[in-house]
Amino acid sequence: MLWFLFYNNKLLVKINNDTIAIPNKKDLTGLEIKLEREIYIGSFDNSSCFAADFTNAPQSLPDGFNYMSLRKLFNKSCEDMFGMAGRAYQIMHWVRKNQFCGKCGSPMENKAGELSRKCPNCGTTIYPHISPAVIVAVVKEDKLLLARNINFPNSFYSVLAGFVEPGETLEECVYREVKEEVGIEVKNIKYFGSQPWPFPDSLMIGFTAEYAGGKIAVDHVELLTADWFSCSNLPVNIPNNKTIAGRLIKWFLLEGIYGLCSNNKR
Ligand SMILES: [Zn+2]
Repeated sequence: MLWFLFYNNKLLVKINNDTIAIPNKKDLTGLEIKLEREIYIGSFDNSSCFAADFTNAPQSLPDGFNYMSLRKLFNKSCEDMFGMAGRAYQIMHWVRKNQFCGKCGSPMENKAGELSRKCPNCGTTIYPHISPAVIVAVVKEDKLLLARNINFPNSFYSVLAGFVEPGETLEECVYREVKEEVGIEVKNIKYFGSQPWPFPDSLMIGFTAEYAGGKIAVDHVELLTADWFSCSNLPVNIPNNKTIAGRLIKWFLLEGIYGLCSNNKR
């Protein structure tokens, strides 16, 4: 049995020679912490997994234990473990926000047999909240569109992204976001892949698209600047391949130009 335990939004982990592990029941023996909002979240490494919060942190943690932010874990752990930790984080975020029924105010309970919370008074049932967002690599001839978001650290560039709105298809969202943020039109929007992004509850849905018209006019609300970059002059600070943004840029470098050129010939 593995326990994904959060204190102040940070995960309790065991670190041994740079290897990160999730504590099991035995590891927690003697650690006097009071668990809150416990919930079963599935299985990992053939073990049942539970998530919970605790607020009474011990003065000092036993040797090898530490608290780790999800961002740090993302950079340091393997994809599988991060997937489960991200799931735990996302579910706990949802549980914390839904202690009470939004309709009648009664305390909500976890429902047996499925991942949902139910109000014992009025029967309202809610499911984990996932916020879909599109992310898109827009290509114009042999160049890729990259932008600097106002929240990005200095000189960091990435592909465009934005949240899906109610009533919108994913393709409509791609078209709207690109038009809103940089003022250009796109065509030939194609699904690329997806990545859960539990910061705190997104699902990134990746696309590729071709430039169809217009001139770059940055909105200056979300973006500072945007431009076309060829393979040989990409910015130095771009997302790594652990992220779908990085994989879209890699796609552009390895297949994008060839793929689009061969499409155009057909
Ligand atoms: Zn209710």
